Amino acid sequence: TLAKVAAFVVVMLVVGRRVIPWILHYVAHTGSRELFRLAVLAIALGVAFGAAKLFGVSLALGAFFAGMIMSESALSHRAAEESLPLRDAFSVLFFVSVGMLFDPFSLISNGWPILATLAIIVIGKSLAAFAIVVAFRYPIATALMISASLAQIGEFSFILAELGVGLKLLPEQGRDLILAGAILSIVLNPLMFLAVDWMKPWLERRAGKTASLDEAKPIGPATEPGQLASVAAPVKEDGPPPRTALTGHSILVGYGRVGSLVGASLKKAALPFLVIEDADKTLAKLRDDGIETVSGNAANSEVFAASNPEGAKRLILAIPNAFEAGQIVLARAANPKINVIARAHSDAEVEHLKGLGADTVIMGEREIARGIVEEVMEGKTEAAEEPKAPIT
Ligand code: AMP
Repeated sequence: TLAKVAAFVVVMLVVGRRVIPWILHYVAHTGSRELFRLAVLAIALGVAFGAAKLFGVSLALGAFFAGMIMSESALSHRAAEESLPLRDAFSVLFFVSVGMLFDPFSLISNGWPILATLAIIVIGKSLAAFAIVVAFRYPIATALMISASLAQIGEFSFILAELGVGLKLLPEQGRDLILAGAILSIVLNPLMFLAVDWMKPWLERRAGKTASLDEAKPIGPATEPGQLASVAAPVKEDGPPPRTALTGHSILVGYGRVGSLVGASLKKAALPFLVIEDADKTLAKLRDDGIETVSGNAANSEVFAASNPEGAKRLILAIPNAFEAGQIVLARAANPKINVIARAHSDAEVEHLKGLGADTVIMGEREIARGIVEEVMEGKTEAAEEPKAPIT
């Protein structure tokens, strides 16, 4: 089995990594949206099915790998967008079927075993995670956040339980306990995050601030497939990033299609600036280019504070989400004199951002229209001038 799984991983990394992005690219260039959607679906299901048939790997693992490979393609955003409605439909079906398997009366008839299962998930799993993270000398705050994130089980355990029952390794009762434990632990999970907030100052005082922030390691890969997002997001915000030494600078938030062009011009004009970005790939590129960065979501007050807004001259919000940009504009309270330039995509967003105190709001679509009109007018002038040209 190990050899088969290893063979599958190697095939995916060597062949899949080249072939899948190539197919996506090729299909995207046919210009057919339906074909692209179909290709995404066919690749996901095809790899999952192929993995199960050829390599004896579970459907879930196969699909997971297909997703990982697709996420590396430059078209991954579009692929994700195209498959969103399907994902929603499938996850609704999945959870409805899980709900139908659950017998609420088991909470009464099986009370103690369910409580024990819940204790294993919420207490046992969290303690184990806490010990592992602390053993790797990460700060306590990180360990607590990881513990809270892992104090629940989800779809991955259902898949394992189903497999266990199928292979007659687990009695049906075991699956029911896992189901009940999963549902209850998911319900309790927000409370775990609250508990972490309460416990953090107390534990840190006791531990005498074990690791300094500079020692804090970057976040490693996530721990369980189902928990990618929930683990990565809070940990990223753990501990404030170091504060910049820049003053009189521009803070550029977002370094995508818009921000990178703005950044290039600032660099050319030799104006001091730093970039707040939350995408790891972009951050790595920025660092390679020698541009100062603050990593994280600019809407997070600690991340934003690291960019020294009090000493900055200009705040450029080059992110597409006006709601998030609005939250950042509010943070200008730290420096009412800062000049805020924001990006918007509708008149309502322009109003929203101006209402919150942005000095200038550039509406993307209006600028596109302006560009098109200029092009047309230039063409018109040329056309009007044409007859004047000497006919030879
Ligand atoms: P684009 O729409 O191509 O200009 O890309 C926007 C860029 O902004 C992307 O690189 C995102 O990672 C980044 N971004 C979006 N929201 C935030 C945020 N709240 N904080 C930091 N970076 C962001």
